[in-house]
Amino acid sequence: TFDVSAPWLNRVVERKPRQFLHAVNDISFDVPMSGCLSLVGESGCGKSTVARLVTGLYKPNSGEMRFAPGQDGNPLSAQMIFQDPYASLNPRWRVKNIIAEPLRELKLRKTAAEITERVVELLKTVGLSASDGEKFPHEFSGGQRQRISIARALASEPQFLVCDEPTSALDVSVQAQVLNLMRRLQDEFGLTYLFISHDMSVVRHMSDRIAVMYLGRIVEEGETEALFARPRHPYTQLLLQTIPNIEHPHRDRVVAAGEVPSPLNPPSGCPFHPRCPIATARCSAEIPEVRTLSTGTRVACHLAEEA
Ligand code: SF4
Ligand code: MG
Repeated sequence: TFDVSAPWLNRVVERKPRQFLHAVNDISFDVPMSGCLSLVGESGCGKSTVARLVTGLYKPNSGEMRFAPGQDGNPLSAQMIFQDPYASLNPRWRVKNIIAEPLRELKLRKTAAEITERVVELLKTVGLSASDGEKFPHEFSGGQRQRISIARALASEPQFLVCDEPTSALDVSVQAQVLNLMRRLQDEFGLTYLFISHDMSVVRHMSDRIAVMYLGRIVEEGETEALFARPRHPYTQLLLQTIPNIEHPHRDRVVAAGEVPSPLNPPSGCPFHPRCPIATARCSAEIPEVRTLSTGTRVACHLAEEA
């Protein structure tokens, strides 16, 4: 296990006209080694910001990020997989060159023959064929393009994959294939995943642990089955009611329960209090501390025992 904590990371800001947005506040979570932690929450909650901070694509404007065991920077070599595989693949390159780029850049293979051999091996690893390497990204379906970006990510032999909504642009049936591929690769290579999603059913399938984010904070973190069996934060309970069913796979019932307040002007006290069904006067006055319950679940709610 390693711990990603950012206790003073209260000024990760994104520039807005004459304003700053605190995108992420005081967050800390454990990613089990060779396991999967999922970060979940509605769009705008800060989960993509965390993914980009962890992989170094964003630098904190102020504050600090710490990766256990106390090293500066990431102790595991990380790669990122994005939601839109098409936007992350160079449309003018043949797939074999897209996958070969990290091999050349990191000098992982020397001769052209070694590079070709490795590219074919990576294509097969993700369920594509050697001849697919000769094609261009537009010749593939969305699911196949995500396989290509996974192959490219694997080329640099990472230990840690940060996956930002990797299947949410795909049809449900294709989603399942890509998720199963990711689980197989995790077993095969001992990969550690930080998995970002707004879809609780996907998250349940993928993760050992879940961290629920709301307005830039983690409001609950714990083991997947414990969190599903007994969600302790009212927001987690709300999210679990939104699990899509077969008839309405894309229904988003969270919206029906109230809009997310603007992160530019967050509510006083507990950021969830305007939408919380059990809020008391204390909730609008006092920000709840993160507490560890006897079950090991960590939760930021004054009424976690009652919830
Ligand atoms: Fe609801 Fe209060 Fe708990 Fe916030 S602290 S989630 S408002 S009960
Ligand atoms: Mg996002």
